[in-house]
Amino acid sequence: MIDSHCHLNDKMYEQDLEEVIADVFSSGIDKVICVGADYFSSVKAGEIASTHENIYYTIGVHPDDCNSYSEAEIEDLIINANKKLVAIGEIGLDYFHNRDNRFKQIETFESQINLAIKHNLPIVVHCREAYGDCLEVLKRFAPLKIGVVFHCYSGSLEFARELLKLGVKFSFTGSVTFNNAKNIQEVAKNLPINSFFFETDSPYLTPTPHRGERNTPKNVFEVAKFVANLRGMDVNELIKITDQNAKNFFKIK
Ligand SMILES: [Zn+2]
Repeated sequence: MIDSHCHLNDKMYEQDLEEVIADVFSSGIDKVICVGADYFSSVKAGEIASTHENIYYTIGVHPDDCNSYSEAEIEDLIINANKKLVAIGEIGLDYFHNRDNRFKQIETFESQINLAIKHNLPIVVHCREAYGDCLEVLKRFAPLKIGVVFHCYSGSLEFARELLKLGVKFSFTGSVTFNNAKNIQEVAKNLPINSFFFETDSPYLTPTPHRGERNTPKNVFEVAKFVANLRGMDVNELIKITDQNAKNFFKIK
């Protein structure tokens, strides 16, 4: 199974990264996408991907770090990327953490969408309490010539349907398994089966029944199991479809 979004480049794995990776690939996980969130974590993601066969990576600056964003620096990383680069991300808008720099966030988001279009790469979007503006921004680029996935989707089903019209895909993390996540569960239950896939966002958002532990990409199976149950499906059947969705999206064989 694929974990389509994790941060093996996070400090929380610094001490035992190789052990974590070995454990992941001996647990039935066959591919992992390591996501950048600023310049340095993007560089690190590229290093991890270049030295591990089944790890791919993304380059991007998260809205929380928009003050450190330099278009030239990020484009330089894209131009000098290794073959395992599969997307630009995570990029987007986060008004939960900070609403005061809204315009700077939008500018940074748009700049990176332009880079993605220029280099023909899909984008991984982080959107928190900023759905209206995210939709506005994406509509400015419509019709979208690149793939767009809303990772860790936590918006409403109604909003998801608006995004579907633009061809957007969705990915779900361990947050769908939380007791207070009825909203996310409703979305995961009702989205068209070809429009979503799974991720862990490790080391964060550890799914039930492992809450309280550091998350690992191998827990992506728990996320799939939970959603399969919601949809009344066999988990392996579901994973077969969602893995193919992820492979198509990121153009991974
Ligand atoms: Zn993430």
